[in-house]
Amino acid sequence: MPSIFTRIILGEIPCHKVYQDSHVLAMLDINPIAPGHTLVIPTEPAETLDKLSDDSAAAIGRLLPRLCRAVCKATGCNAYNVLQNNGSGAHQAVMHVHFHIIPKPDPSRGLGIGWPASKLDNAAGTDLAKSIARALAG
Ligand code: 5GP
Repeated sequence: MPSIFTRIILGEIPCHKVYQDSHVLAMLDINPIAPGHTLVIPTEPAETLDKLSDDSAAAIGRLLPRLCRAVCKATGCNAYNVLQNNGSGAHQAVMHVHFHIIPKPDPSRGLGIGWPASKLDNAAGTDLAKSIARALAG
């Protein structure tokens, strides 16, 4: 089953399009949490970021800062968040990779963030950093 975003990319479902090329579509979110809330979507139908090809990742990475600048210019908002959810446990509702650009015009609008920070244990941090580095190399 194609995702709703694939159907939008194919033109089967309308959207408020901001940008499109062969690798990327950007459009306004249908349920914005602030004016200018924009979604940036690879045309490749990967479900989560870890499954995305290097080519699509490069295309998105090249475009994101430009789109952030355009959203800021159009909304007059210089504070914003870029959010990217992976997996239903991390609040991903549409299983097709996408980045949210969310202007933060004032404290009451835009993204609210819970940030349950704790202190990194030195020994655990050493093990974890090594383990991630090994996974990266492997
Ligand atoms: P997620 O929770 O998966 O990171 O966010 C999915 C986002 O896609 C939501 O903010 C939701 O409003 C948006 N969305 C879902 N369906 C559509 C649609 O058909 N059109 C547009 N433009 N946005 C959509």
